[in-house]
Formats: sequence, structure tokens, C-alpha cells
Amino acid sequence: MTSDDLNIVYYCDACSVARASYIIKLLDGELAMCSHHYNKHKEALDIKAYEVIELNKTEEAAPILEKAE
Ligand SMILES: [Zn+2]
Repeated sequence: MTSDDLNIVYYCDACSVARASYIIKLLDGELAMCSHHYNKHKEALDIKAYEVIELNKTEEAAPILEKAE
């Protein structure tokens, strides 16, 4: 199975380390954000963005369970 087109990986524009979970479409471009930074900037992004695309969850993105650190 070849699916190169489906294997595009976006990395967070804020930290450049985490894989992006969201693509935020803006009038003057688009941003990729990991869920951490998307949530961090959500209020501002919701105002500027006309569309937010949630990327498919990857298998390695294990759910973060609440636990004491
Ligand atoms: Zn990030």
C-alpha cells in the first residue's frame, strides 16, 4: 500500500518538536499546532482562524491519563 500523500507529517509551528494535531487556516496562511499549543493559543486562534482541521490521531499519541507527578 502506497499512501505517500497521506503520510505528510506536520510539526508544530510553535515548538517545532511535536507533531501537529491541528492545522489552523488563517486568511494569510496556515499554522500547524500540536494539541498543547493549540489549546494554549485557542482563544486567539479561534478569532483569527476561519477553519481548524483536526488531524487524525496517531497511534503513538497515547491518551494522557490524569496522574499525580
Ligand atoms: Zn507545540
